[in-house]
Amino acid sequence: MKHVVVQSDLREAEIRPPRLLNRFRELSIEDAREFFGSPEGQIEVDCPACGQAGAPVAFEKNGFKYRLCATCGSLYVSPRPTAARLADYYRSSRAAQYRAEHLARETSAARRVRVIHANAYWMGRLVDEAGKSGSRIYGDLGTNYPVLFEEIAQLGLFDQYFSIEPFHGLAESCRQAGAVVAAEAPAGLAALTAFEQLEHQFSPREMLDRARGMLAPGGQLFLTTRTASGFDIQTLWDKAPYIYVPEHLNLLSIEGLERLIEGAGFDLIESSTPGQLDIELTQAAAAADPTVSLPRFIDLLLNRRDAEAREDFQALLQKHRLSSHVRIAAMKKLLTDCGK
Ligand SMILES: [Zn+2]
Repeated sequence: MKHVVVQSDLREAEIRPPRLLNRFRELSIEDAREFFGSPEGQIEVDCPACGQAGAPVAFEKNGFKYRLCATCGSLYVSPRPTAARLADYYRSSRAAQYRAEHLARETSAARRVRVIHANAYWMGRLVDEAGKSGSRIYGDLGTNYPVLFEEIAQLGLFDQYFSIEPFHGLAESCRQAGAVVAAEAPAGLAALTAFEQLEHQFSPREMLDRARGMLAPGGQLFLTTRTASGFDIQTLWDKAPYIYVPEHLNLLSIEGLERLIEGAGFDLIESSTPGQLDIELTQAAAAADPTVSLPRFIDLLLNRRDAEAREDFQALLQKHRLSSHVRIAAMKKLLTDCGK
């Protein structure tokens, strides 16, 4: 299995401008209180990665309990809103509307250059190298940036493009970018992407089962998500300002993610944390919030060493899969592997 290290000069402010992100967070927190504030409509769950029950509460945030699984190290919200309540939220909350009208539109150009193009190229390379499905159909689950389809089309690997349940308000943009918008893709996809989806699913396992159902044998699944194994989340913990409900119900550990994906009938092709922002995010959170108390060594590294030291440290985080931005490629088992 591959572990990949990535270097570029990615900056948080470019892909997530603070003004837009702060407003989105404010709305999300207010809306979560309104939509999920009462205990009805919330349900207790076991660890979404490994199924272990009885995890203790690690911290509370905005009235929600984040639990830490002792078996696999994943952080997850329980009790959590039911799938029906979450669907209602993503259809009709002000945060959902803000995402479509501002966040997705106004950050699209910078994200295209910095993130979307790289994701498309990553996927294309692995489909080219390892693709065994014989299919030329591509799908994206929960499309959040419709320009993705334009980038994917340039790869020349597919003949048909499906956007499966794009985010509220983005369906028309997906069509304009060349995709068929559908509640479900036809079975037999060569590749399915689900970028920044796993963290807000009621059930990550159900999402993977669904993905498996849509892929051809030998078809590939490409995920990005945030992981609890990452430096900034481990360091900031409950003070990480960009972790909130319902966007972040599942912050699964690397180990938990791998176990979950293999358990759902996939072979792992790549599991990397090519994140470049852990140090920057930690510095920014500490500067903005006087209640953040960094461990002495981290404070020294961040504030008394130069940019080169910080870059080296970020490279080490990537190399050893300790950044909080994870990407995983996995292949649906071939027919000959099934039924063992
Ligand atoms: Zn677990």
